[in-house]
Amino acid sequence: MTIGVLALQGDFDAHRRRLEELGADVVLVKKPEQLDAIDGLVIPGGESGTFLKLLGDAGFDKLKEFVHAKPTFGTCAGAILLATEVENPKQKGLGALNIRIRRNAYGRQIDSSIREGKFLNGDRRESPLEMVFIRAPKIEHIGEGVEIIATEGSDPVAVRQGKTMAATFHPELSDDPRIHQAFLELCGTDTPVRRR
Ligand code: GLN
Repeated sequence: MTIGVLALQGDFDAHRRRLEELGADVVLVKKPEQLDAIDGLVIPGGESGTFLKLLGDAGFDKLKEFVHAKPTFGTCAGAILLATEVENPKQKGLGALNIRIRRNAYGRQIDSSIREGKFLNGDRRESPLEMVFIRAPKIEHIGEGVEIIATEGSDPVAVRQGKTMAATFHPELSDDPRIHQAFLELCGTDTPVRRR
């Protein structure tokens, strides 16, 4: 199983290291055609507007096709890209996660922070999880078919829909490997792939 990390911009290297520590074969994806050779993809944090510019229309379309067919995990800017609806400002999304998400939702003073939230394990038991938020977006609305897999206070901060996963924080910057582990498990499951 080969996992790609989208390496156009942002903190892709920390994801690469974490996935390799967990035993995955990782390739850095810099060209759209590389998507044909991977089994799952991580879209890292960065600046979602810049990602859209760097992808261009053809790259966006190719990525959209990928995320509707194969497991994908987006963190922060990656979560924004995967959403169906993006606010502040409005921008297009890949539509793989039925959520509305607001960019830079925490305001200036607390725009970056480390907080303790709750991770819902596979058996739905809660356990504490360190979460690094950097100019984080907020998931404002959860649509049908979306499952919450982590919360911080009353906010959902990690979600899953079919083979798509997203976190508004940066699990690659904490020592805890459980979120990446959950994604690798998702890559290995045989849940039917969603089609839209
Ligand atoms: N603020 C960024 C955006 O709106 C996301 C920040 C991040 O990825 N750490 O795209």
